[in-house]
Amino acid sequence: AEAALRQSQKMETVGQLTGGVAHDFNNLLQIVTGNLDILQRNLPPEQPRLVRAVGAAMNGAQRAAVLTQRLLAFSRRQPLAPKRIDPNRLIAGMSDLLHRSLGERIEVEIVQAARVWPAEVDANQLENALLNLAINARDAMPQGGKLTIETANTHLDSHYAALDAEVSPGQYVLICVSDTGTGMDEETLAHAFEPFFTTKEVGRGTGLGLSMVYGFIKQSGGHVRIHSACGDGTAVRIYLPRFHGTARDTAARAPAPSAPQG
Ligand code: ADP
Repeated sequence: AEAALRQSQKMETVGQLTGGVAHDFNNLLQIVTGNLDILQRNLPPEQPRLVRAVGAAMNGAQRAAVLTQRLLAFSRRQPLAPKRIDPNRLIAGMSDLLHRSLGERIEVEIVQAARVWPAEVDANQLENALLNLAINARDAMPQGGKLTIETANTHLDSHYAALDAEVSPGQYVLICVSDTGTGMDEETLAHAFEPFFTTKEVGRGTGLGLSMVYGFIKQSGGHVRIHSACGDGTAVRIYLPRFHGTARDTAARAPAPSAPQG
């Protein structure tokens, strides 16, 4: 429990530092893209070299903006629009996108528990996070393999809170994204959530995927855990807060809570 506390304090500090830089950087980038936009609109078309140069600059600035957004997500400073979502439906809606992003050699299995609770979370950001996890899984299965996405209702009780400084007891919707890939060694597992930590070659990985997922889920009041070992594949478990809306919203539709699951 003490190690978990130290780890969460470290993430907190790194998040504060990163957030400050990312916030200022984002403002500067807006000056750059705003002015490039004016240039783009007013360039004479008979100057193709200039048009290309400004296009390339805009492209770079937009990629930098994506990176800053991920840093802001990690530092939990992004504006979120949490609302009631049906996790099963959201995942089913991503099925085509997942198949297209993962290619033919990776089998995708979606296992939906019946009567999963509604969750309260920003739907776009959740899709984004799940896609990031799927891409990581793909990268860990260069020879092909299987990606599984499972949903379940879960209750984290004080037992978990005692083991893990970050956990608040309560009812959560669990989304587990697992793969049959390489898995992570201990070193990688220990640093996986940190921004800029990557084992991928330059240009292939930024080390911002998992840190974005981590920050987003924490900001949403949820939890995220990785279970992984070399050769055993990886499972990322996302615990989303159960939607507790007005009495009318929940009483009419919510199923009885199921037994706690790990
Ligand atoms: P990136 O994918 O850009 O490297 P991430 O933050 O998403 O950044 O991941 C950090 C590191 O964690 C990866 O470089 C990789 O070593 C490891 N990792 C993430 N997901 C998986 C996975 N599903 N299987 C094995 N290793 C993974």
